[in-house]
Amino acid sequence: MVVRLRPHHLLCMLTFVGKGYNAEFVANYTAIARRLSEGEEIEVVSGPDDICRPLLNDPEAHCREHGVATRDELAAKAVARLLGRSVRPGDRLRLSRALVGRLREAFKEGTIRTACRGCSWSNLCSTVSSSGFSGVKVLGSAVPAETATGTCAPLPA
Ligand code: SF4
Repeated sequence: MVVRLRPHHLLCMLTFVGKGYNAEFVANYTAIARRLSEGEEIEVVSGPDDICRPLLNDPEAHCREHGVATRDELAAKAVARLLGRSVRPGDRLRLSRALVGRLREAFKEGTIRTACRGCSWSNLCSTVSSSGFSGVKVLGSAVPAETATGTCAPLPA
């Protein structure tokens, strides 16, 4: 099994503390956070993903909006630059403690947050970040560092 995630959720998962759009969304997200913390692989996808799933019965769900796709593009670029790897549909990665720590450090410094501009959850995510990520649900797994970035291809020179 893999967890299918759109790129901007690689940021959102860093500050998930059990809050979200509705109870079903939070329950699903919490289960995904547990799987990620246990070291299940992530597959990067385009468009609505496993976290979006409980919202997709609504034909107007924001998950399909153009602005959210732009958020994905910005997040993919930022995370790829940080990791020195591609973050494109089909790429896979696994969250080691080191990788999650690196992402959280950059998130806290604000260097990978251009995708957060205009997001209604931004204040909450900033508060979680500045509190030292207290109460977050996604923890890095104990996978060896050498497999931490999975099958993501190196970025072209
Ligand atoms: S501010 Fe929005 S896009 Fe950024 S991490 Fe939080 S929920 Fe995700």
